[in-house]
Amino acid sequence: MSEFTISAYITILKLGMQDTQENVTRILFDSVCLSMKNPVDLKPKFITSLIQRKVDVQNEIKKASADPKIIAEAEDYFDNVVFPKININLIDDICHRLKLLYSNDISVPSNKKADLDNLLASNNLGIFLCQCFLYALNRDNKALDQELRTDDIPLLSEVDYQCPLCHSPLIKKIKNKSVKKYEITKIFPNDLSSDKKDLFIANRTPAVHLDSSDNMIALCSDCSESYLLKPELDEYIKLFDLKEYAKKNYQIQVQLSTLILEDEIKNIINSLYDINSNTVIQNFRLDPLLISEKIDPSCFVLKQTVTSYVLQYYKFIRKLFSELDSFSENRFNIIASEIKLAYETIHPTCNSQEEIFAKISEWIMKQLNIPNSQKYRISCDVVVAFFIQNCEVFDEIT
Ligand SMILES: [Zn+2]
Repeated sequence: MSEFTISAYITILKLGMQDTQENVTRILFDSVCLSMKNPVDLKPKFITSLIQRKVDVQNEIKKASADPKIIAEAEDYFDNVVFPKININLIDDICHRLKLLYSNDISVPSNKKADLDNLLASNNLGIFLCQCFLYALNRDNKALDQELRTDDIPLLSEVDYQCPLCHSPLIKKIKNKSVKKYEITKIFPNDLSSDKKDLFIANRTPAVHLDSSDNMIALCSDCSESYLLKPELDEYIKLFDLKEYAKKNYQIQVQLSTLILEDEIKNIINSLYDINSNTVIQNFRLDPLLISEKIDPSCFVLKQTVTSYVLQYYKFIRKLFSELDSFSENRFNIIASEIKLAYETIHPTCNSQEEIFAKISEWIMKQLNIPNSQKYRISCDVVVAFFIQNCEVFDEIT
């Protein structure tokens, strides 16, 4: 619910006025309608549709709300009629919720946010409520953005089209149409108290530009709403770290699609073959597991990375091994055993599967004296992904 619309405004005011949706809407609209020459009658069905975001406010009302005389009258009306109807114990909550709503709506220009902030800071609450109302009244109310926006696709693919907090899908197919089930959410939210701001910054330095995609993450609508309503430090850290990891992963995906790594992988595998080892051959599972059975669902980005490496290079690596095995018998099993032993040594010291993955890849780089270039680093990751699919890395999740 991070869109500043008349529907959201009425829903918030209803909490403070403790009256029916219809009464609240009429009282609020009277601030403009009572001053119009031909007042618009609000039908109950219209009010319901307005709250459900199926319709926009009538143009006559919008036009009237721009008349300076009507604006002045509306301000008086809010002071004398609306404000006294709000439960005094809730007035701060109501103002806070409105502020959260416009602060987190990226389509509200920053000068508008600043103007409203100033009214609130100067404690002109009647005028603040009135200006928020007049502004909300004039904004698009009809929910057009059920369709996903192409601009959001990079942010969606960063999190593999799943909410990174609850893993629910961010897009639903309804009648062959992709319907948006997400909100692009600010990781470092706009409206933090100064204590929280300091606490958050002390733990993770936020992106330089808070309106840039570096500070945005796609969450399902529920997780987004509950985070923005009351952002807690542990959630902030979680989202921040997820974003860092997802960003890095996304860059790798992009690079992977443009790099040709076959030579590097071939070199790594040849070097693996050259290891003169007395490794005892291990027992391996005969029935291969799916990647999803081996990677914890919370490591969704790792899962995505491994899956894309496997899809792209598994057959190629398998073919290299079988070609080489025809020269030297059983070498593949020896290498697989080495990787399995490396996994068994490394995994007790790690806190996550991401860490294990990175450490095994590093271990291969070091063992084989592989040049520390980007292409070789990714190629090592591809080889580790191969051994994940082949069951030498990661046990079944229980
Ligand atoms: Zn969620």
